[in-house]
Amino acid sequence: METLTGIFQRLWAKGLLRPRKGWIRKHSSSNFDLSKNCAYHSNIQDHEIEECPALRNKIQNMIEKRKIIVQQE
Ligand SMILES: [Zn+2]
Repeated sequence: METLTGIFQRLWAKGLLRPRKGWIRKHSSSNFDLSKNCAYHSNIQDHEIEECPALRNKIQNMIEKRKIIVQQE
C-alpha cells in the first residue's frame, strides 16, 4: 500500500487533488504541535499527513469511485 504522502503528491501533480486553503483550526492553539504538519491542510494543522483523516477519507472515496488506482502489495 502506498503512503498517503505518496498518493497525495501523485494526485496533486495530476491536478486531481489540491491542498485545502484557508483551513482554520477549531481548537485553541495551546496544544498546537508545531513538530507536526499536514501538506493537505497547507501545513497548518497539527497532525502528520499520514494520520490525516480528511485526506484518508477523500482518497478512500476516490478509490471507491474508481477515480484513482492505488497499488496494493
Ligand atoms: Zn490534514
